[in-house]
Amino acid sequence: MNVNHSNTTMTEPACKITDEICLPDTNLPRVVIIGGGFAGLALVEKLKHKEMQVVLFDKNNFHQFQPLFYQVATSALEPDSIVFPFRKQINGYKNVLFRLAEVEEIQPSTNTIITNKGSLHFDYLVLATGTTTNFFGLDNVESHSLGMKDIRDSLNIRHMMLQNLEQAAITCDEKERDALTNFVIVGGGPAGVEMAGALAEFCKYILPKDYPEYPSSIMNIYLIEAIDELLSTMSEKASSQTLKYLKDLDVKVLLNESVSDYDGSVVTTKSGKTILAKNLIWTAGVKGQFPKGIDEKHVVKGNRLKTDLFLKVEGYENIFAIGDIAALISEDTPKGHPQVAQAAIQQGKYLGNSILNILNNKPIKPFEYKDKGSLATVGKRKAVADLGKFKFAGYFAWLLWSIVHLMSISGFRNKLMVGFNWVVSYFTYEKSNRLIIRNFKPNSSTNNIKN
Ligand SMILES: Cc1cc2nc3c(=O)[nH]c(=O)nc-3n(C[C@H](O)[C@H](O)[C@H](O)COP(=O)(O)OP(=O)(O)OC[C@H]3O[C@@H](n4cnc5c(N)ncnc54)[C@H](O)[C@@H]3O)c2cc1C
Repeated sequence: MNVNHSNTTMTEPACKITDEICLPDTNLPRVVIIGGGFAGLALVEKLKHKEMQVVLFDKNNFHQFQPLFYQVATSALEPDSIVFPFRKQINGYKNVLFRLAEVEEIQPSTNTIITNKGSLHFDYLVLATGTTTNFFGLDNVESHSLGMKDIRDSLNIRHMMLQNLEQAAITCDEKERDALTNFVIVGGGPAGVEMAGALAEFCKYILPKDYPEYPSSIMNIYLIEAIDELLSTMSEKASSQTLKYLKDLDVKVLLNESVSDYDGSVVTTKSGKTILAKNLIWTAGVKGQFPKGIDEKHVVKGNRLKTDLFLKVEGYENIFAIGDIAALISEDTPKGHPQVAQAAIQQGKYLGNSILNILNNKPIKPFEYKDKGSLATVGKRKAVADLGKFKFAGYFAWLLWSIVHLMSISGFRNKLMVGFNWVVSYFTYEKSNRLIIRNFKPNSSTNNIKN
């Protein structure tokens, strides 16, 4: 896997009019990274200022901090507090270039990627494309509900919720009002639990002030989980404590229940229950997303790419996968690593060191994941924490959750904005961003974003 290149630096763009993406000429090895999520950005940080040309592609011009999507959805934060422009991130990194384009195809035989803006040759290719919402083939659910995998999804949820609450104040039809004010969240993982807790607090603290005409019992929040516990990847203690916290907040938790159909007004479950609701938020699953061109025999469960111990996609010499899309299957990790930010960041950093070693003809070690623990919050001032053998819940866990998340957000300004909003909301329970800026159209194809 050696690539011999002279140490020439990059010069001005060689702008030939071709379908090639315009880049500065270089004799340095070119590392193309597709996706600037946690994994892709951690890799960029490792490769900055090194003797190579790094080209980061993303279909958005910003990095998204997905763990706080639910706070944008429930009006606690503005979107620009949790997204960060790539160009600002790579400012001053002379060997790193960003290109806003969606990569549509990989042609491994010619080491080329095809994007919606043109093509590009690579020496090394890294797939860090993450996942998209998995509706498990429930087409009706997909067309009528909202997922939470993109900042635009969060804004759609916010607008759907605020518009429906306003419409509920207009209608005299009680059945219609119930449907408009009932919320169903599907999936009892961290995203679903955190969303349910935040909505319950909205119902408890904001609804009575903003909509004095409603009884506070008007807004019902259902959390539906297919198995017999919430937060199944965490400890039993975390799971049972979360259930208690949510019940204390009047969330109706339905365990061992799954959604089988939804027509935009009525949610039907497998056991035959029906819930009247015009608000359905789907957090029940994800599946890997990547451009076409990778041999299907290397795609495993969850649409992830099977890698060797060095995160190289099986069957290829110079194509790697990191983050949610990668499934490093070994005896220790028969299902791959967990699809969480920590794993993505560690894989990005690891691959950065590996690429440097490969280019310098040094040996590389297999990837080892260090589980630093899990945290999930349930409304304000309550969270659950599993940190190795320390498992605890309550205020201290929430404080830790807040610090960890605040430190992880990209950019000083964003940290400041999120921190400021949290301090204000800590003392006032206020969520100040309850603005309907654009019209959300239920069941419109433009609501479901392909991410
Ligand atoms: C609502 C929610 C809450 C979460 N909460 C937590 C939490 O509390 N703790 C935790 O550890 N994890 C959490 N996660 C999971 C965590 O966000 C993911 O594990 C992490 O984002 C994975 O990082 P990644 O870099 O692999 O992919 P991503 O962060 O998803 O990044 C993928 C990037 O690739 C880009 N992309 C995709 N396809 C293309 C293409 N064809 N061309 C160009 N660009 C492309 C996308 O635009 C995106 O920028 C949460 C996830 C969600 C959705």
